[in-house]
Amino acid sequence: MSTTAFISHRDCWLHDMGAHHPECPDRLSAINDRLIAAGLDMFLSFHDAPLATVDNIARAHVREYVEEVIAAAPEHGIRHLDPDTAMCPHTVKAALRSAGAGILAVDLVLKGEIENAFCAIRPPGHHAERGKPMGFCFFNNVAAAVRHALDVHGLERVAVIDFDVHHGNGTEDIFRDDPRVMMASIFQHPFYPYSGADNPAPHMVNVPVPAGTRGDAFREIVTEKWLPPLRGHQPQMIFISAGFDAHYEDDMGSLGLVESDYAWVTQQIKALAAECGHQRIVSVLEGGYSLSSLARSVAMHIKTLADL
Ligand SMILES: [Zn+2]
Repeated sequence: MSTTAFISHRDCWLHDMGAHHPECPDRLSAINDRLIAAGLDMFLSFHDAPLATVDNIARAHVREYVEEVIAAAPEHGIRHLDPDTAMCPHTVKAALRSAGAGILAVDLVLKGEIENAFCAIRPPGHHAERGKPMGFCFFNNVAAAVRHALDVHGLERVAVIDFDVHHGNGTEDIFRDDPRVMMASIFQHPFYPYSGADNPAPHMVNVPVPAGTRGDAFREIVTEKWLPPLRGHQPQMIFISAGFDAHYEDDMGSLGLVESDYAWVTQQIKALAAECGHQRIVSVLEGGYSLSSLARSVAMHIKTLADL
């Protein structure tokens, strides 16, 4: 059994982009309920996410952008930064907790207190570019955690694996010129955000797939296209942009993954870490909007991370 941390914070429930917005607080409640119903909670080490500092986030973003987002929060009501992405008076707290979760996860894993971690946070992050909010995202939580591992802890090579149905354009934007960070992703294409099909550098292994792609094709791509370059890169820590909107039941996208595919890919990532001589995995929630399939998929992902 691995020691797996579950990092979250009540503030992440308070970010509210308005009634009927799919990126809603109930997503986290569904995950918590399912963990308890599945009896997984008793095996996890629970931690409250700290507030990230501006310095933490400015490792991945333009500092002025971070300050502008913080200043943009409304005192009342909701302020839209783009048609999909809106702030309420609690958004900054939630966004700082979300980035802080990834940073704490890196610290705990590198101190050896835990083997891996799942950060149950919102707002998500992988669409947030160096200087631009986008697609429900303000700060790129995984990117800030990656830069913390590289710049503060001195790691030299890491990987970001992204299996969200959408391309992580923000993560690509932040690391396209940084060969220390190999990004491996699979995403529906053509589809929002309409990027990712042209890999800008050898350390960007983005694999676009058409609507309707199911688990068998997904597993073939992971085996043939992701794992060989990832093994060559020998990451000292593996980050997961864990979106579950490629699930068959999630009508945000049109891919056909199911729980067993998420368990399988998680097992492959664990095996990759072991081949690289460690067990360091930091997984951070991105998308996933059908509450039932999101919660079941996260439960399978965590069960596999924890070897339960
Ligand atoms: Zn997504």
